[in-house]
This record gives sequence, C-alpha cells and structure tokens, in this order.
Amino acid sequence: MQEILYLVIPCYNEQEVLHETEKQLTMKINSMIDRGLISNQSKIVFVNDGSKDRTWDIIQQLHDQNPLVQGINLSRNKGHQNALLAGLMTVKEHADMVISLDADLQDDIDAIDRFVEKYYEGNDVVYGVRSVRKTDTFFKKFTAQGFYKVMKGLGVDIVYNHADYRLMSKRALDELEHFKEVNLFLRGIVPLIGFQSAVVPYERHERFAGESKYPLKKMLSFAMDGITSFSVKPIRMVTAAGVLIFSISILMLIYFLVLHLLHHTVAGWTTIVISVWAIGGLQLLATGIIGEYIGKIYMETKERPKFIVERYLK
Ligand code: UDP
Ligand code: MG
Repeated sequence: MQEILYLVIPCYNEQEVLHETEKQLTMKINSMIDRGLISNQSKIVFVNDGSKDRTWDIIQQLHDQNPLVQGINLSRNKGHQNALLAGLMTVKEHADMVISLDADLQDDIDAIDRFVEKYYEGNDVVYGVRSVRKTDTFFKKFTAQGFYKVMKGLGVDIVYNHADYRLMSKRALDELEHFKEVNLFLRGIVPLIGFQSAVVPYERHERFAGESKYPLKKMLSFAMDGITSFSVKPIRMVTAAGVLIFSISILMLIYFLVLHLLHHTVAGWTTIVISVWAIGGLQLLATGIIGEYIGKIYMETKERPKFIVERYLK
C-alpha cells in the first residue's frame, strides 16, 4: 500500500520563489506517485505566515490550477517555527507522513525520496542533515556550528547540522501536539519525542531568489530561544560563580585577618575588602539558588509529556 505524503512549506514574503518551488515540487511528487512510492492522495501545502507581499494571492492561484496544491493562511505573521507547526498540525489528520521544508528550496528536494525510503524502513522521524555548507558564508558557518556546539555543551539533544528539513510520521506528529510550550524550538523538541529515527545527508544550495528572512538579529534571538527553552544550565553557571566567589572570599578573609593582625594594613581596609567579596559571592549564590527554583517552575509550566509509549503489545 502506498502511503500519503504531505509537504509543508512555511512562506513569508516568498512571491519571488513560489512559482518555481511549486513547479519543482509538483514534478517531484508526480514522479514519486508514478513510481508507486507514495499515494496519489499526496499534497503540497503552502502556509502563508502573514506575508506582506503577494504570497497568499499566488498560493490561492496555485491551488486553483494545481490539484496537488493546498494553502493555509495564518491570521498574522507568527514566525517560521509557529507557521511550520500550524501546517503540521493542520495536515496531520490526512497524512501518513509529513515533510517540512523551506520555500526557497535551499534544501535539496531529491532527498525527499530517501526520506520516504527511510520512513518505509520503519523510521518515525527522518532528519535531513547538511553534509556540506559550501554555499554558506564563513560567518554563517561559524555561528551555526558554534551554536550546535553550545547547545550540545548545555546538554540539549539536537541533531548536528539539522535544520527544519525533516520527515515525521503521523504518530510522531500526534505526540508533538502534546508539547504545550509557547516558545517553540522544533529542533530541540523533535528528538525529545523519540521513536526510531534516521538521518539523511543532503547538500544545501543557495536561495535561488528572494532574500533570507533570518537576518543576524533574528538568528541570535532564535539561538537564545533555543538555549533558554531547553536548558537551565545558564542558571547553574550563576550558582557556580557564586560558590567560587564565596569560597575565594573565605580565603581572602583568612589572608586579610592575618595581615590585619600583623598590623600591615590601613584601618578599615580589611572590613571593606572582605565585605565586597563576601557579599558579592553571597548575592550571586542566592540569585543562582532562586534561579534554580525559577528554572524548575519554568520547566513545569511547559507541561511537556512525561513519557511517550512507542508500542503496546497485548
Ligand atoms: N519564514 C516564515 N516566517 C517568518 C520567517 C521565515 O514562514 O517569519 C519561512 C520562509 O518563508 C522560509 C523559511 O521560513 O520558507 C526559512 O526562511 P529563510 O529561507 O529566509 O531562512 P534561511 O534559510 O536564510 O535560514
Ligand atoms: Mg532559506
């Protein structure tokens, strides 16, 4: 039996690329249907994320001309991650598997065949991973790789060099729905879902038209979001600094007391120096401890599912 594949494509001000993207994806889907890889019920779904240009008009027009094309229009711009989630949650009832990709086709669409193969091999999640970053600038490469390293260092389980090009099965999407957080960082959440997964390497191309919707400022805030949504380690670092400084202050206390007793210091100096260190250290320590609790509350408020059953044999 051939299963139904949906492609979900978030679009923000993408009028320059939509026609070409639709043409290439239609060819891809049709060839896969012809080869009997996927069902002829498969669809291409464009999600308009509150674009300010003609994006939605074009999507409507494509929908009229092409039976493969569907459109979802969001009430306003909500950002890439939310647009993606909106698409995934809207189509999951009708699909067996869903692949998310960008409108600019920077992600090699020939990888789609391999995604689907991996799905048929029993994987619920297939991650597209960039094998080379030839077309990225040195700066983008450097910041992106630094980001993955920092995330790993902070104990967040993310797939190296994987962006949002991935396949998810219907049941993985059903589980994704149970992650209630508002600060959405899908790359961090999907590995938390678990299930059997696979990786498909692909080459990343250049945007063929239009410009990146992720300028440096957005990129940084996205990275910051990713870190603070998954890790309370930054709070732990404050606590650690507090412990360190407070310990130093105790050593200082002993040292200055000895100096003081030997009458090597100006009157009043010892008290001031010791209080500066001790109070500073104590304050950091206290902030860290309060932060620990806030971190706990923060994680609780996410109401993430505590477990996901993979199979129930009865
Ligand atoms: N996008 C979106 N909403 C936004 C910003 C971007 O839906 O607020 C979409 C955009 O149309 C594209 C994808 O997210 O399909 C990735 O954006 P882009 O290609 O500009 O990012 P880059 O590849 O430069 O990281
Ligand atoms: Mg892009």
